[in-house]
Amino acid sequence: MPTFVRTDKCDGCKGQDKTACMYICPHDLMMLDRDGSETGHAMKAYNQEPEQCWECYSCIKICPQNAIEARPYADIVPLGASVQPLRGTDSIMWTIKFRNGTKKRFKFPIRTTPEGSIDPYGGKPEADMSKIAEPGFFNGGLCECDRSELICA
Ligand code: SF4
Ligand code: SF4
Repeated sequence: MPTFVRTDKCDGCKGQDKTACMYICPHDLMMLDRDGSETGHAMKAYNQEPEQCWECYSCIKICPQNAIEARPYADIVPLGASVQPLRGTDSIMWTIKFRNGTKKRFKFPIRTTPEGSIDPYGGKPEADMSKIAEPGFFNGGLCECDRSELICA
């Protein structure tokens, strides 16, 4: 389910040193073809190694032009259909297009903190690193399960 770039929509992130899709890809797959020598499309991004794509959708979600799409497996998304997210600052809109042209949209909140911030513990106590080797690390003080049933116990 690799991604591909819609060259009619991509603006090369306006020629910045590192495009949004290059920045976000965990596998460093996205490239900007500055002079068109790689793809024939100057100042357009491309997935340089689609077979290595993790299918994580990160580049699709971050692209400000909504120019990246996934080519899903046919048993999940039949030919002619598509699944396309559009990320906002506090929500994400998924547009599902069926083969018969029907479209459905689903909007979900995506953040519990303001954009650009994180709250990794979410009200839980901070991890006690001196207990890192113990089963139940991080929430060890909260877990009430029978430790003898844990694989790691
Ligand atoms: S993030 Fe989108 S607009 Fe920017 S270079 Fe990548 S595909 Fe093009
Ligand atoms: S879907 Fe994920 S792994 Fe694939 S090109 Fe986009 S960011 Fe990279």
